[in-house]
Amino acid sequence: MKLKRPRKPARAKRPASTHPRHAAARAARDPLLARMAGADHREVGGVSIDTTRTANGRVKRVCYPPGFRWSTHMKPLVNTPLCMHAHVGFLARGRVRGAYADGCAFDLAAPRAVVIEPGHDAWVVGTQAAVLIEFDTERSTAARFGLPDSHRHA
Ligand SMILES: [Zn+2]
Repeated sequence: MKLKRPRKPARAKRPASTHPRHAAARAARDPLLARMAGADHREVGGVSIDTTRTANGRVKRVCYPPGFRWSTHMKPLVNTPLCMHAHVGFLARGRVRGAYADGCAFDLAAPRAVVIEPGHDAWVVGTQAAVLIEFDTERSTAARFGLPDSHRHA
């Protein structure tokens, strides 16, 4: 005979707090978001950017919040119709979609290596922040990695 185990009352799952102090505490515990040694920390257009000089280039950790869209949040600050940075690196968390001027599109979900050519819009998909570990050499990044200065087809 089967004995029925008394059911535990279901405990309501409390949603994660959005209070900035709690978010900061969570970030401190999360190795992917914790304070990055030796980094210059900046916040631009809601994007958190930690940059370190490494050899003759830079390693950056860039955290794009949920809802971020380059054309909405960054375009007004940089005065180019599209993002003209080349992005080469590792998408460690989250999902990013984007499109080039000619309609070519990309849909990137972590974990994966990424190469995005200059001349794109991009946005975060879903409720999770996108965390990108990038390698760059500032203005020469596209040339350094063999990319065109703007997305095009040979
Ligand atoms: Zn194309």
